[in-house]
Amino acid sequence: MSTLDKREYPQRTKAGTIPPTTRGESNMSERYVIALDQGTTSSRAVLINAKGEMVGVAQREFPQIYPKPGWVEHNPQDILFSQVGSLTELIARNNLSADDIAAIGIDNQRETTIIWDPSTGQPIANAIVWQCRRTAPIIEELCGDPEVARTIQQKTGLLPDAYFSASKIKWLLDNVPGARARAEAGELLFGTVDTYLIWVLTGGLVHATDVTNASRTMLFNIHEGAWDPWLLDLFGVPASMMPEVRPSSGSFGETSYPGIPAGVPITGVAGDQQAALFGQCCFAAGEAKNTYGTGCFLLMHTGAEACDSKNNLVTTIAASAPGTGHLEYALEGSVFMAGATMQWLRDEMGLLVKASDSEYMARSVPDTGGVYIVPAFTGLGAPYWKPDARGTVVGLTRGTNRNHFVRAALESMAYQIADLTTAMQADSGAPLAVLNVDGGASRNDFLMQFQADLLDCEIRRPQNTETTSLGAAYLAGLGVGFWKDTDELRSLRSTDDVFTPHAI
Ligand code: ADP
Repeated sequence: MSTLDKREYPQRTKAGTIPPTTRGESNMSERYVIALDQGTTSSRAVLINAKGEMVGVAQREFPQIYPKPGWVEHNPQDILFSQVGSLTELIARNNLSADDIAAIGIDNQRETTIIWDPSTGQPIANAIVWQCRRTAPIIEELCGDPEVARTIQQKTGLLPDAYFSASKIKWLLDNVPGARARAEAGELLFGTVDTYLIWVLTGGLVHATDVTNASRTMLFNIHEGAWDPWLLDLFGVPASMMPEVRPSSGSFGETSYPGIPAGVPITGVAGDQQAALFGQCCFAAGEAKNTYGTGCFLLMHTGAEACDSKNNLVTTIAASAPGTGHLEYALEGSVFMAGATMQWLRDEMGLLVKASDSEYMARSVPDTGGVYIVPAFTGLGAPYWKPDARGTVVGLTRGTNRNHFVRAALESMAYQIADLTTAMQADSGAPLAVLNVDGGASRNDFLMQFQADLLDCEIRRPQNTETTSLGAAYLAGLGVGFWKDTDELRSLRSTDDVFTPHAI
């Protein structure tokens, strides 16, 4: 039986300002953690109180640059100014001083690559964004040999791809005039977006990244926890460019940037998906989260063991609480088309007015009437990795109507996640007992119940689905003792909606 647990929602807060109840005169001593959520299309600053509640947010979008088909760039200054702009707006609107802010945490779009000159602070070129495919030929050339590809997978946990930072650094050094010589002379620094922001916000004092971001560069040995000389050599990257790698929760310096309160400690850093895993309180082996956004990102914590995937998933480093004493790992799989399939139904097919209509439309029919959709519009991601696959619809009959079609599209998200969880359980040997969910499409109760039934596993949806910012804040707060330990974080978790499986 479906047991969707609808308990009382806590009072929602008007975005952007702290309500009088949490920042009245009696609460002047209340302190906060700020998460800087640096995403692919916007930068946000999120204010989080000691109860783990999101009590304020400011957001700035920034331009996407597409110089050629398949190329994607960001101007690092746009990233910086949108991030600093959202932070100063949040601070000003809420009248915060350095004393009010216990710590800052950063979560960021992963793999995006920036190289800059520390003597001027000037980037040598635009950032090459994770989505950019320009370096696919470099990967073919350097990693085409199956033995090389296997060695890369053993060292980094990743399947060689242009997605990760290594080939992007090589491209910049080979294509920006004079860059290679300057890098070899020790005059240039590399960073993923977290590293660049930390370097700027600390006034150029700290050149560091965290283990989760390092694990997405394809230059980091995830077993040894160090930059790998063989990989640096393969991609022609001078070791002097590389940031120091630190635990995700701990010191990354203090703020020293015009317009921002000085001396605020930066004590939490993680790539966005690992931050979301932490924000979902997945701290132990077997705990997993799936984000249902444009695409899906499923991560399962595997504890101190780096599972070697035999099923085309990637192995990555998970963020850990301070004092863990060893690296922790996760298996990761991504699906390209999830909520985007709803956008396709809305914008191209005209079957929906808005994505949320899909719920009552799906419920208006008992099943899909035998219709199945494979939304491989841009190829298939994990665990198939078929870039040339294309979308398919089967099972149409004279009785098929738009509700069957919409229901089949929603179910296609759940089937793709089932393929990933099957692969993950085979790799990790751990059965999935609970799946924690977030992202826009996780608001769809029909989809969540169907997913629970299909996986035969409980689905938990927290009240606060802003798990990425929450994860960065948790890491930063633990780093300064704002929260004691992960048990305290679990106790803060807002009331969940729970979907328990029933037979289908
Ligand atoms: P992203 O962070 O990737 O931009 P979001 O987490 O904001 O994505 O989720 C937006 C996506 O979720 C969109 O693709 C949208 O079509 C889909 N979506 C939003 N609400 C629903 C819903 N109620 N049912 C199904 N899909 C939805």
